[in-house]
Order: sequence, then structure tokens, then C-alpha cells
Amino acid sequence: MRSHRCGDLRASDGGRTAILCGWVDGRRDHGGVTFIDLRDTSGIIQVVFSSDVSARAHDAAQELRGEFCIKVTGEVRARRPGTVNDNLATGEIEVAAEELEVFSRSETPPFQIDDHQEIEESLRLKYRYLDLRRGRMQANLKLRHAIISAIRSFFDEEGFVEIETPMLTRATPEGARDYFVPSRVHPGSFYALPQSPQLFKQLFMVAGLDRYYQIVRCFRDEDLRADRQPDFTQLDLEMSFVEQEDVLEVAERMFKHVWREALSVELADFVRLTFAESMERFGSDKPDLRFGMEIKDLGPALSSTEVKIFRSVLDSGGAVKAIAVPGRGALARKDLDALVDEAKALGAGGLVWAGVTSEGLRSPLAKLFGDDERAGLVAAAEASEGDLILVVADHDPGVVHKTLGALRGRLAGRFGLIPERDRSDPEAWKFAWIVDFPWFEWDEAEKRWDPIHHPFTGMVEDTVQYLETDPGKVISKSYDITLNGWELASGSIRIHDRKMQERVFEALGISRDEAQAKFGFLLDALRFGPPPHGGIAPGIDRIVALAAGETNIREVIAYPKTQTAHDPLTGAPAPVTPDQLAALHLQTTHPPNPGPI
Ligand code: ASP
Repeated sequence: MRSHRCGDLRASDGGRTAILCGWVDGRRDHGGVTFIDLRDTSGIIQVVFSSDVSARAHDAAQELRGEFCIKVTGEVRARRPGTVNDNLATGEIEVAAEELEVFSRSETPPFQIDDHQEIEESLRLKYRYLDLRRGRMQANLKLRHAIISAIRSFFDEEGFVEIETPMLTRATPEGARDYFVPSRVHPGSFYALPQSPQLFKQLFMVAGLDRYYQIVRCFRDEDLRADRQPDFTQLDLEMSFVEQEDVLEVAERMFKHVWREALSVELADFVRLTFAESMERFGSDKPDLRFGMEIKDLGPALSSTEVKIFRSVLDSGGAVKAIAVPGRGALARKDLDALVDEAKALGAGGLVWAGVTSEGLRSPLAKLFGDDERAGLVAAAEASEGDLILVVADHDPGVVHKTLGALRGRLAGRFGLIPERDRSDPEAWKFAWIVDFPWFEWDEAEKRWDPIHHPFTGMVEDTVQYLETDPGKVISKSYDITLNGWELASGSIRIHDRKMQERVFEALGISRDEAQAKFGFLLDALRFGPPPHGGIAPGIDRIVALAAGETNIREVIAYPKTQTAHDPLTGAPAPVTPDQLAALHLQTTHPPNPGPI
């Protein structure tokens, strides 16, 4: 039907006849000549309709409007001097139309197909097929394809096999709520959609498949944020006869391969931080390493302080720590008061601020410190003149780290402290491994210990002894990959010893019967010679979003859902008829819903 794609033509094609198909991006009329921009997935080219070339085509062009779908035949020619468009790859040329065929007309679209417009997201999602006509969205989906292709080529080379696992299955615990699907043929029973293929991939290892991967859809019913969707895509992988270092080595090499192939960037080696170090220095287990502002301990500098709040915290074994915000020492009082409120909302008892000025410290507490103490505090915070020191003190060092970590991230964004870098700059990509996570975390609301990763995660041998007596001390063989403040992947070396797996279930308060009912198939498999194994699962949507320079994963997912897990395009989720409910042996206690908000 066509000879070229719009965006592929160049000056060297001058004199050729081109047959092009696409959409009318815009139309202008100048002195009896009609110009249209014709757009397809490759780009845009200018088409000129003039009666000199074809009166018939020129007449027919008068009905063209934005988003009409057309075919144009004409000669490629150089644009007249002075009319060259440097912003367009095809800007040196145009097509002089000889024939026009209109495939279909378009109503006026609900928004302009234009990358520079801010369009309300629910409207974009309702008309996603129009939204996806935009160059930016097409580029994002093509980048997604390039990244997935690079992943597949990498694992093919490495001898991994891609195998699918069931979507209708039993619950896999990854810390979220499950999506359930009622069974028609087993009244009262439900399938769960997988939160991850975790157990199936472990069974592949028992099966001797050795190296598995899968680009797989996973489902988690949890509160949505910019980096979460109810259904999302993971690169899931698992390897046999490996230790932690082996998995880290393969995963890091894979990321380097993907960045090289899809972005032409040579990544530096990943930084490696233990969980404890990451919390102490950055107050987060997904630290953004593109800027400094590290958390500093003021304890030694204040060791003989008489300032009451600091004295009591230090005496009780708590922490007094600070970050220094560059160049914000003269921040207005109301902004400082707002920061104090922000710190309190984050869980701190309060926040002490101190601006470093040429005349000394500007702080409500300035008078309470001795001269040495003031100098010691500025030095310990590694602050310079003009900086703002923010101090948090608490009996629980965890509160100090969490509060300063959150402020560090927010203020860097608010004050523009993260250096702007081009995506082609290797320095733009600050990957890190976070290792040596605690195995358990205490859930204060439920008053119980929960796994930080999942219950199949191995433990560092010499910490297993604390499993029953002091769970907080058990260190797991799990690891995360973080990039620029996002968690990109989690993984672990698994428990392959059945007795150990049973002991872990017990420590988690899962009874033998419950363990057998939920995970009996795994426990059974562990009877038959399971190999040592481990893996990891990077999130594809997050990888692509970061690689595309987007801050929201919805921008790299073709048909995403809104923050309320609603799809404005199809209207899902939607009520079903009483007959459909009855066939599934279900009744709903909710009145028929007119449709989601
Ligand atoms: N199944 C884990 C997850 O989805 C990843 C892994 O342990 O490989 O986070």
C-alpha cells in the first residue's frame, strides 16, 4: 500500500515518488496552496497540495481535518530555501501531492495529539488510542520493546529458558492482597492471580531446569502510587547451584547489557551498600545517590552538651543526626516552621534548624551552644557557610534515619539539588545493590514479625541461631537493586532445606496445618533433592519508566489503570449480571454499582 514511512524520507530521496499513509497532524493554507503534516509511527513529513501539481488532489485536500487517515502519492522534493524546518528529521524536504485517498475521517479529537500539551490523565486514558498516537508515547512503547528485546537476547546467550507459569493459581505471599477469581466448577473456591511466580520458579529448579526466566504479568491488590499498578510486569529469574554473588553478577551484567543496547550507555559498576549502611547514610533502603546531603552523626560533637533534648536522647542511647542542605541557610522563618511540621508528620518529635552564616549560627538554639560546640556541630554536619543544618534527635535511631532520609529526598527535589543530566550520560544512572537486609520486620499494628522479603528467603548461616529467640537479628540472603531512589528489583537465595522451611513457617506463626494447606506442594517438592537456588525479579515498568526519563510508570504501560485501579478505557472493573453471579455461586453484599469512580 505504501512505499515509505513518513519519517524515513530524506533529502537524498529527492525526485522519487513516495506513497505515504498516515494521519493529518495539522493543516495550513497559504495563498491557494494547502500544507499538511502527515504523521505515522516513524515521524512527520510535510505534504503540499497545489493546483500546479494536481488540481484534483488540491480540491480533495480541502476537506482534510486533523486525524483524518489518508494516503498520499507525490514526488519528494527539496523545500524552498528559508522554509527548511530544523526541528524535523524530514525538515529539508516535502512531498508534492499528486493523488489523495481518504481512508477515514475523524471527529475532532477530545485533545490535540501533541507532545507539548498538558492533558488531564483520565481523558488521556479514556482515549488511550489517541494518546498513544503522540510521539512521546510511541517512543516510550518502542523503548519498552527495545529493553525487553535486549533482556531476551541476554538470557538466550546465557543459556536461560523462558517458561510460562499459570495465571490462575494459588496465593503467593509477596506482602500484598491477592486478586481472586471465582471457580464456576468448584463452587465456593477461588483461584488467586499470582503476586509473582515465586513458587513455580523454585519448582523449576527442583525440576532441574537450572536457569529460568520469564517476562511475566503479576497482580497485587495494594494502594496505588506513581510506581505501582494492580497488574504489572516483572522480569522473573531463577538459577540453580548459585550463591548470592552469582545472582548479583548475572543481574548486574544484564542491566549493563540492556543500557548498552537500548540507551547506548556504558554503566559503571553498581555501588554496594548494606541495608544498615544505607539507612545510616541515606535514611532509606532505596537511596538516591545522584546527590550528597548524607546523614551525619552529631553525637560525638555534642557529647558534653547541656542542651536538654540532645542530652536526654544521647544518654538513652538514641541518635542526634543531621543533614546539611546546600545554600538554604537563609530560608524564611515560615518555610522553616513548615519544615518542622513536615518532620513531625514524618514521625519525628521535632526538628532543630540552624543556618550557617558569616556571623555564626542562625538557630532558635544558637544561644544554648558553647563556641566549641557550635563549631563542632557545623563540622560534624559537614556544612559550609550558607547551608542549612537540619537536626533530628530521637531515642529510636530508626526514627532519626527515616525522617532525615525522607527530608533529604523531598528537599533535593524541591530545591533542585539533583544535577540535571542527559540520559546518554553514564553519571545519570546511579545503580546500587542493597544487601544484608534483616530477615524480619516487626509489625506494630499486628504485633508480629513479618518477612521483609518473602518466607522462602534464606538466612545468613551464623544468624539462624536467633530465629526463635531474637528474630530482629536474623540477616537474610536477600538483595535489592535500586536506581536513583527507586527500588528496581528484589531477590534472594532460597531455603532449599525442608526442615528449615518448616522452622521458618513456625517462626512466622504459620501452623503446620496451615503451612501444609497453603504451601504443601512446595514442602513436598523439597523432599526430592532440591538444589541450592536463588533468583531475582526486576520490575519492567519501573526500568522502562526510568530509562525513558518518566516519573510515573503509567507513561510506559500501554493500558494502565488510574490511582483507583479503574480503567477509563474499558470501564473495568464493572458489575456483572445476577445470572453471571449465580453461575459462579456468588452473591454480593454490595448494591449494584453504577460503575467505578
Ligand atoms: N518473587 C520476588 C518478588 O516478586 C522476587 C524474587 O525473590 O525473586 O519480589
